[in-house]
Order: sequence, then structure tokens, then C-alpha cells
Amino acid sequence: EVKKNGKNGYQFYTAQLDSELYERIELEGYLRKALERNEMVLYYQPQIRTLDSRMIGVEALIRWQHPLKGLLAPDVFIPLAEETGMIYDIGNWTIREACRQMKLWHASGGPLIPVSVNLSSQQFHQSNLVEQVQNALTETGLEAKYLELEITESMMMDAAVSTAILNELSALGVKISLDDFGTGYSSLSYLKHFPIHKLKIDRSFVTDITESHSDQAIVATIISMAQNLKMEVIAEGIETKGQLDILMQNDCREIQGYYFSRPLPANEVENNFFVPLRLLGERNTVFHSV
Ligand code: C2E
Ligand code: MG
Ligand code: MG
Ligand code: MG
Repeated sequence: EVKKNGKNGYQFYTAQLDSELYERIELEGYLRKALERNEMVLYYQPQIRTLDSRMIGVEALIRWQHPLKGLLAPDVFIPLAEETGMIYDIGNWTIREACRQMKLWHASGGPLIPVSVNLSSQQFHQSNLVEQVQNALTETGLEAKYLELEITESMMMDAAVSTAILNELSALGVKISLDDFGTGYSSLSYLKHFPIHKLKIDRSFVTDITESHSDQAIVATIISMAQNLKMEVIAEGIETKGQLDILMQNDCREIQGYYFSRPLPANEVENNFFVPLRLLGERNTVFHSV
């Protein structure tokens, strides 16, 4: 009996492994062609100033319009892109596309707000990152101050290396945000030494903030620390009015979350967050921010 179970168990295991491996290989094949087939799309999630509910920025979040599977979230393909090295081309495309869209909005009378773009760890350590960012700005005509790059604490483990990269990026005039702040292992002394402009409080501290005194204390501490260090701070993942109220009581001035808006395709950001001032024909709608 043991032998039989063992054999069946083994067969089941290999069958499952085969199909997982097969799916991965298949996905990888599609991913290799995704850029040239124009299947990557950027969604934009509005960042809101609590004082007057105005959109003061957007975060670009990548999606993949898979020919068979539909719209895929980054968690499904970014890890694969990282393992296979495809993240370099995808990441470079993302920076350019975000700059292009922002410049288009600015040029058509849209709000003069910045776009923030997530960097993967490999991209951050890529030797020509600074050159790629500079090229994206030059070729799209977007001013550097309207581009923010999001990194995470784990990318700054090697202090000397990250200081050099961050200083070069800052010298271009782009801003740096520390994403998912509070979930990594960064020492607070990093914040003092690195040119970091903004802290993004991770959603995990916001989720239970209405019930959890410790989450409230953590968020309040991050906000006052950021203010003392003359950094900007934004809270992520606000889904309810209750969460917003507590954040505002703690002097949180910028938020991002489903409560105001999910990430949207560019045209829906225009429809929902820009006010049309006048129409100059089909292709030249002029916008003003809400
Ligand atoms: P992130 O940078 O921390 O982005 C925030 C994620 O939280 C987004 O998920 C967003 O849709 C989601 N979110 C925003 N507000 C709420 C909310 O109120 N409630 C909940 N439950 N979720 C909310 P998304 O778009 O699936 O992205 C997941 C992660 O994938 C991002 O986390 C980022 O780390 C990564 N990512 C996204 N786009 C890119 C990209 O272009 N390049 C790289 N390297 N990574 C990316
Ligand atoms: Mg982010
Ligand atoms: Mg985040
Ligand atoms: Mg994240």
C-alpha cells in the first residue's frame, strides 16, 4: 500500500510540476513578444491631496494585455520578467511611456503634475539606468521635476552603491520615493544620508488603522518623522472614509487608494479627473485638473 501511494504521489507530483513548468515556459514565450506586440499598458492611479481632494500626481502601474489570458497584473509577470532579464526592456519601456503620457497631458493643457514609476531592483542597479532616464526625458521632452522614481528599502542594502545611484538620479532633477515604507529592513540613518524626497507609507499599516492603535501610532510616527526630515509623505491603500479621517487627523496630506480611485487607463484619468475647458476638435481636447 505504501508503495502504491508513493508511486501515485510521485506521479501526481511530476504531473503537476510538468504543467506548472509548461505554463511558465508558455508565459515566458508570450512575454518575450509582449513589447513588440504592444501588449504592455500603463494604468495610472491618482494621488490625492486630502485638503481639497485634488489630484496632485499619478503612479504608473504596468498591466499586460495577454492575447489569451486578458489583462494581467504585475504580480503575475514582473517576477518572471526579473528572472529572465526581460525586466530591463520592460522597465525602460515603462519609464519612456510614463514620460510620454505625462508630456502629452502637460502639452494638451492637463494638470502639471508628476508621474511616479516603479523601479525593480535589477533596473536600479543597471549600469546605464541614469542614461536611460535622461534619454527618456530628452526624447519625450518631459521636465525632470515631473518624474518620480519609486524604489524600495531592500534596494538600498549596499549603502555606498545606492548613494551613488541616487545622487546621480537626483542630479538629473528627478525625485525619489521610498515605496512600501515600513515593510523593509532599512535603517533610519539611510533616510538622513540618501536623497529621498518622499516616503510612501505601506498599505499594510493603513488596512486596520481604524481599529489598531499600534498601526495608528506607526503611521503617525512616520508622518511626523517625514515632516521633521523635510520629506513628503503619502499613504497608500486607502479604501474607506474611516481610514481617510484617521490619516487626516494625523496630518497626512497626500493619499492614494481605491477610496478615491483605482488605477485607470489614461483616457479614464482624463474623463474622471480632468475638466474639459474647451474642445479643439477630436484630438485636441484641452483639460484642466479638477
Ligand atoms: P506598489 O508600487 O506598491 O503599487 C501599489 C499597488 O497597490 C498597486 O497594485 C495598486 O493597484 C494597489 N492599490 C492601490 N490602492 C489600493 C487600495 O486602496 N487597496 C488595495 N487593496 N490595493 C491598492 P498593482 O498595480 O497590482 O501593482 C503591484 C505592484 O507591482 C506594485 O506595488 C509594484 O511594486 C509592482 N509594479 C507595478 N507596476 C510596475 C512597473 O512598471 N515596474 C515594476 N518594476 N514594478 C511594478
Ligand atoms: Mg509603487
Ligand atoms: Mg507601494
Ligand atoms: Mg510594492
